[in-house]
Amino acid sequence: MDYPKLGFKCGLEVHGQLDVGKLFCECEGRLRKDKPHFTVNRKLRAMAGESGYIDAAAAHAQAKGLRYVYEGYNDTTCLVELDEEPPHTVNKEALDAALTIATILHCDIADYVQVMRKTIVDGTNVSGFQRTSMIATNGYIEVGGDKISIIFVGLEEDAARRTAEDKETVTYRLDRLGIPLVEIATGPDIKTPEQAKAVALAIGMLIRATGKAMRGIGTIRQDVNVSIKNHPRIELKGFQDLKSMPETIKREVKRQQEVLYKKEKLESHVRNAKPDFTSKYLRPMPGSARMYPETDLTLIPISRDKRADIEKRLPELPDVKFNRLLKAGLNDVLASQVLFDDQFAYLHKKFKKLDPKLIATTLLSTQKEARKKADQDEGNFQQEHFEEIFKLLQDGKISKEAVLDMLVEVAKGETVASAAKKFKLMSDVELKKEIAKLKKKFAKVPENKLKGIVIGNLRGKADIQKIMKFL
Ligand SMILES: [Zn+2]
Repeated sequence: MDYPKLGFKCGLEVHGQLDVGKLFCECEGRLRKDKPHFTVNRKLRAMAGESGYIDAAAAHAQAKGLRYVYEGYNDTTCLVELDEEPPHTVNKEALDAALTIATILHCDIADYVQVMRKTIVDGTNVSGFQRTSMIATNGYIEVGGDKISIIFVGLEEDAARRTAEDKETVTYRLDRLGIPLVEIATGPDIKTPEQAKAVALAIGMLIRATGKAMRGIGTIRQDVNVSIKNHPRIELKGFQDLKSMPETIKREVKRQQEVLYKKEKLESHVRNAKPDFTSKYLRPMPGSARMYPETDLTLIPISRDKRADIEKRLPELPDVKFNRLLKAGLNDVLASQVLFDDQFAYLHKKFKKLDPKLIATTLLSTQKEARKKADQDEGNFQQEHFEEIFKLLQDGKISKEAVLDMLVEVAKGETVASAAKKFKLMSDVELKKEIAKLKKKFAKVPENKLKGIVIGNLRGKADIQKIMKFL
């Protein structure tokens, strides 16, 4: 498809959860599966925003007349999530992460941050609004040689998550409400559906590079704004994964072409992306009428010193880090797998003499294999276990082949020290003696088979090349 000729316009809003507690209280930002301690019921009404108008999306939600049930926990949700108490001061770590991202994206950072209330009455919050703030504007990111403008970087509260619904009631859990989200909005500069995916990936990596991003599925979410000439803007949200993004955008372009061809009514709205690449009408496009200032919080000044401090502490950028790992000896696949792995970073730094490939595969696959061999589903390996094993390896006390066997023993409940006794490397004299013994025992076995027997017996107790040499 000739996207420039179609007047293809596309921009992204990427939201990343931060793993630093809640944004406006001191609760943990942890999603829970256990039974909630209490529930409260609410109904929400749409309020007119600063401009005096009620937002179209808010009116749409209120018209459904639903009752909302909120599930909370005594120890990880508080009165702030319930909107029974004003917000506390902004989470400093979250603000620093947003400022870091804004700095990397070459943005102009605000002198003062004004927290706003965004009217949303679909039940995803208790108060009828979401707190959101603009941290920086007017930046850019380079992706595959193209410069994509960044309109703004924001910091906002995540919504409550839906756990159940019926005709009259929707149940939400408060554990997610108030988790900090850094929001990055690009300009409509994206040229093709494939580029949308590449930009989303690059922005997601930047969020992770701060070291404050939450991990796992659904922690980084993308909304895509897309339109072609003569069609109003459509927002696509709810992508399951980045892979489905280009095809979903392509289908949306085709849908817009059809709407134009059939001369159907044109309306800017929000659509939900489905796993089969189609999308479904969700609600009208919210407008600017939904915003008004949060009067329970003062302006947050961002001083010149603060900016200088952030600039001094910028994290290593993902592409720089990736190249460094390649140089250290990792291949593309391993390097991308451990790119944001803190445990790998720590062990790689601590055991500089060890092959980083060995450290990476130990963490990525060997430990799983060891658990399987030991018949242990649950991981019981701790950081110390890896450190102790790598220390023995670095000091030449065990061979790299012994790492798996050692982990199997540890998975069975042994200590590293006691396992090490079994897999201690043999001295050259001991090794020669042991080989001689095996040769005698298996004197009638043909030579190529003998090789296998000897290695099988001595694997992990000496360097394989050395065994071969002595044999
Ligand atoms: Zn709280």
